[in-house]
Amino acid sequence: MLASMALVVTGTIGIDTVHAPTGSRERIPGGSAAYFAAAASRLAPVRLVAAVGGDWPEEHRTLLESIDGVSLEGLEHRPGSTTFAWGGRYHENMNERETLFTELGVLEESGPPVPDSYRDSRFVFLANTHPAEQRRLLGHFPDRTLAVCDTMDLWINIAHAELLELLREVDGVVLNDQEAEQLVEVRNPISAGRKILELGPSFVVVKKGEHGCVLVHEDGVATLPAFPADHEQVVDPTGAGDTFAAGLMGHLAREGTADRRTIQDGLAWGTVLASFTIESFSLDGLVGLDDARIAERMAAYRDAARLPEIAGAATG
Ligand code: AMP
Repeated sequence: MLASMALVVTGTIGIDTVHAPTGSRERIPGGSAAYFAAAASRLAPVRLVAAVGGDWPEEHRTLLESIDGVSLEGLEHRPGSTTFAWGGRYHENMNERETLFTELGVLEESGPPVPDSYRDSRFVFLANTHPAEQRRLLGHFPDRTLAVCDTMDLWINIAHAELLELLREVDGVVLNDQEAEQLVEVRNPISAGRKILELGPSFVVVKKGEHGCVLVHEDGVATLPAFPADHEQVVDPTGAGDTFAAGLMGHLAREGTADRRTIQDGLAWGTVLASFTIESFSLDGLVGLDDARIAERMAAYRDAARLPEIAGAATG
């Protein structure tokens, strides 16, 4: 294994309000970059770039500071502004959610500065935010080996042209099946993935919730199952997507390479880490998580994902 290469994440630090069939929580730590950093730091050190306002709760800061392997040098504190805040409600099946409110706060202002010490970052994850801002941030990492972005329905709707510009510059994109369909107006995830490759990236990961994900790479296609979890284990799915991307990027940064095989292994790490995120509200499933539990779940996943021998397949 090569030495781990610097991984940077840009995205939101949020104050979340979540209503789920399992309960409600108000003003809990969240945001795409927070979930990403808490998860990816299990595999490789992470540099974080984000901004928060004067209303950012002290307990949220203490929590983020308590996570080993996360550099907060790129976290900008703006006393006169408000922190990004998001509220969502999950339906009974836990797969569908509706956004109740999005208060952009600092996201409406100019983006956070990127510290000079982050310039040599090799693996770059542009978590969810405005695509024009994702593109500006990308420009700060000239030595990158690999840049991957996330996006969501909001940006596909209101910033389509900027998103297309961004896609020309990144190596990979992670999005869910509905977003993929919305972006290229193709329903099948593999066909949609191939169409997205035409827009620029060399790979696309299409997430299908409890049905796993599809990797559409210029070198071929692969599918991965979800982690086999009971409905009862799902407490709060918020952050599953960011955690999934964190497992992928953390693994790639740790290995120092991004060939298709390593991406596939990274997706397995992402799947397993996300299975912890959804078991608790906020970052609680990730913070303080024992490495042995991650390893144990990874072994169980590898076992569950292995295809059984197909009777008669070798006799024809
Ligand atoms: P996920 O469940 O992985 O899609 O991510 C949920 C997190 O994304 C929450 O903690 C929110 O604070 C954050 N979030 C929600 N909407 C947005 C948005 N439009 N831009 C950036 N982050 C967002």
